[in-house]
Amino acid sequence: MPERVESESRKLLERLRHALAEGGEGQERLDKIVGLIASSMQTEVCSIYLFRDNETLELCATQGLAEESVHKTRLRLGEGLVGRVARTRRVINAADAPSARGFRYMPETGEERYSSFCGVPIQRLGDALGVLVVQSKDAREFSADEVYALEVVAMVLAEMTELGAFVGEGAALSARHQNPVLFRGSIAQEGASSGNVFLHEARVVVTNPISDDPDLELQRLRDAVEELRSSVDALLSGNRQMTTDQLEIFEAYRMFANSRSWMRRMEADISNGLTAEAAVEKEQSLARTRLNQAGDAYMRERLNDLDDLSNRLLRILTGQGKDTGADMPDNPILVARNIGPGELLDYGKKLRGIVLEEGSVGSHATVVARAWAIPLVINAKGITTEALNGDPILVDGDQGVVHLRPDEAVHAAFRDKLAMQTRAQERYASIRDEPALTQCGTKLGLYMNAGLLADLPSLEGSGALGVGLFRTELQFLIRSHMPKRSELSALYARVMKASGGKPIAFRTLDIGSDKVLPYMKPNDEPNPAMGWRAIRVGLDKPGILRMQLQALVRAANGGPLTVMFPFITLLSEYRAARAELDKVLAREKILGNPLPAPLNVGAMLETPSLGFAPDAFFKEVDFISVGGNDLKQFFYAADRENERVRRRYDTLNHSFLTFLQMVVKRCADAGTHLSFCGEDAGRPLEAVCLAACGFRSLSMRPASVGPVKHLLRRVDLTEVRAAMDDAWAKGDLSARDAVSRYLKNRL
Ligand code: PEP
Ligand code: MG
Repeated sequence: MPERVESESRKLLERLRHALAEGGEGQERLDKIVGLIASSMQTEVCSIYLFRDNETLELCATQGLAEESVHKTRLRLGEGLVGRVARTRRVINAADAPSARGFRYMPETGEERYSSFCGVPIQRLGDALGVLVVQSKDAREFSADEVYALEVVAMVLAEMTELGAFVGEGAALSARHQNPVLFRGSIAQEGASSGNVFLHEARVVVTNPISDDPDLELQRLRDAVEELRSSVDALLSGNRQMTTDQLEIFEAYRMFANSRSWMRRMEADISNGLTAEAAVEKEQSLARTRLNQAGDAYMRERLNDLDDLSNRLLRILTGQGKDTGADMPDNPILVARNIGPGELLDYGKKLRGIVLEEGSVGSHATVVARAWAIPLVINAKGITTEALNGDPILVDGDQGVVHLRPDEAVHAAFRDKLAMQTRAQERYASIRDEPALTQCGTKLGLYMNAGLLADLPSLEGSGALGVGLFRTELQFLIRSHMPKRSELSALYARVMKASGGKPIAFRTLDIGSDKVLPYMKPNDEPNPAMGWRAIRVGLDKPGILRMQLQALVRAANGGPLTVMFPFITLLSEYRAARAELDKVLAREKILGNPLPAPLNVGAMLETPSLGFAPDAFFKEVDFISVGGNDLKQFFYAADRENERVRRRYDTLNHSFLTFLQMVVKRCADAGTHLSFCGEDAGRPLEAVCLAACGFRSLSMRPASVGPVKHLLRRVDLTEVRAAMDDAWAKGDLSARDAVSRYLKNRL
C-alpha cells in the first residue's frame, strides 16, 4: 500500500473521528461525513444509502447530488448500481457508469453529469446495512488504494450505524434492531410460543473503530493473536478425547491463527486507521459475506472456522465474555447459533422456545427440546445478529417461522393461534384419564417416549400408560465421561420409581450414526446410519452392554423389567444380545442379587430384513417395537437427517403400510406383543392409520398423546380401513388423501 493513500485514509478516519466526537443529531453527522469523504477523496459526489427495510435502500446523505433527493430517492435491492452493490455485497468501480450494466438514471439527483462511480457495501458481520458511493465527473476508475480506503470508511460507518450514531428525529434513520423481522427456518419441534429473546452468547460490540495510535493497535492485535494461538495449541495438546471432527476443526483454527495473509490484512487495516478490534471485524465481515455466497461445503466449513476464530479474537481484544450478563427475561426464548445438549439442559425447562441459526432435526439438542416439547426452529439464518436481549419474539414451530419484534397485527394473529392451542390442551386434559377407545370399540395403549429423568413427570400430565421407549443413550450423550455402573443403576432406579409402577421399556444403548459419544474414539464411516451402531456396537464391545444390563437388573431389584435391543437386523443378533442378558442374570444370581420379575425382552424392528426373519424370531421375542424413524429411512433409502429427502416418501404409502401389515400379522400369528414407537405414532392421522392396520400399542412424544387420543376416540377403525382399501382399489399410492377426506366428512 503506497504511503500516500495509507496516510490519506488515516487522515480521513482521524477527521471522521473528530466529526463523530462533536456529537449532533444523526442526520447532521451523516451530512458531515459525506462532506469529509468527498473532500478527502477529491470527488464531486459522496452519498450514503442505508436500508429502510430489507428490500429498500434510501439516500440518507449526499454531497454533490440534489439536496431535495435526500430521504426521497429510494432503490430496491438489486436496482441500479447502488442496489447491485447492496445485493452482491461487492464493490462496483466503473469509469463510465452510465454505460455500466444495471445503471439506473435518477433524474431527481442530477446524476447524469457524473461519469465515474465507485460503490462499496456498508456491512457488518455479513449483514448488509447500506452502500457508500463516490462519483466524479472525469471518467476515471478509482485506484485499488482508493477503493480500499472507502472500504475502511464503510466499515466504520457500519459500526456507527450499529451503535445508533445516525439515529434521529423526523426523516432521519430509525435505530437498528427495532423493526419487525421475519425468519423462515425449519421445523425441529412443533408448537407455538411467545416470549422474549434470551441470547445464549453475548454479541461483541466494538465501540471504538477508529484509532489514533496505530503502533499501539498493532501491538494489541499481535498480543491477542499470540494469546489465541496458545489457547488453540493448548486445546489441541491437552484434549486427547477429541473426535476426528473436533480435531479437524482445531487444526483448521491453528492454520488460520498462524495465517500470514489474515494477519497482514488486519495489520494493513490498522495502519490505515482502524483499531485492532475493528480490523478483526472487517476481516470477519468479509469472511461472512463469502460464507453466504459459498456453495462448496468444504469452503463453508473453513469460513465458519474463521468466523469462530474471529469471535474468539474479538473477545480477547474487547474483554467481552460469552456470558451476556443479562437476566433471563420472562418467558425466555433462547436464541443461539447452535447449542449442545448439555448447555441446553443447564437452562432447564424454563425456556419457552428455542431458535437456532444452525442445528439439525437429529441433533442432540433437538432431541432434548423434543423431549421437553419446547418449540424449536432451526436454520433461522441471521437471527443472532438481529436479535437483542429482551426483544419480543414469536416462535411458530409448526411452520418453522419466527417473528422478531412483531407488529400488532402479527401479535394478534399469534394470540389467536396460542388461544387455539390452549383450548386444544384443555380438551386433551379433559380426556387424560379416559381410555383411547375408538367408536368401533377398539382399545389402544398409548405410551410415551422418554430419555431423561426429567421426562417422567410427563407420564402423569399426558395420561400415557407407560414409557414405550426409554432412549438410554441420552444419559451417555450429555456427559463428558462414560457413566459408571453404580451411577446408571441409581439413575434407572429413580426413573422406575418416578414412573409410579407404570411400565418402562428400556432400550439399550443406541449409539453410532448421529449419536456420537464425546468420550469414545470416533469412527470415520462413509454411511454412519448404516454403519457400526446400536446393537452392532453392543455385541462387538459387550463390556458396555453388560454394564448397562447389570445396571438395569440391579435397578429393578427383583421388580419388573422390560429391555429392548435396538437395530436388530437378524435373528442371530437378537439371540446374541439375549445371551448377554442371560449371562448377566446368571452372574447376578451367583452374587445373590434378586432377579427381575416379570422380565420382558424384545427387539426393535428398524430394518426391513427383520420383517422377513424366520418364524422363530417372532416366537422367541416377548415383544417387538417398530422404530419407524429408522425403518422408514431404510425402507425408502431416504436419509432421515437429510432435509432434501426425508419428507419425500409417505408413511401412508401403500408399500410401507403393506409391509407393516405383514409384521402385524406375523406378530399376531406368533402371539407376540407389537407396538410402534417412531415419530409417526405421534401424528394423529398416521396414528389412526396404524391403528387401522392393526397396531394396538403406540409410543410417542408426551405432547402427542392428547391429540392422538382425541382423534382415535372419534373414529371408527373399520371405516378408516374401508377408506384405505378404497384408496388402494383406486390405485392411489398413499392412503393420506382418502383417510383425510373420511376424517373431514365424519368429524
Ligand atoms: C426409530 O428409529 O424409530 C426410533 C424410535 O429410534 P431413534 O429415533 O432413537 O433412532
Ligand atoms: Mg432408531
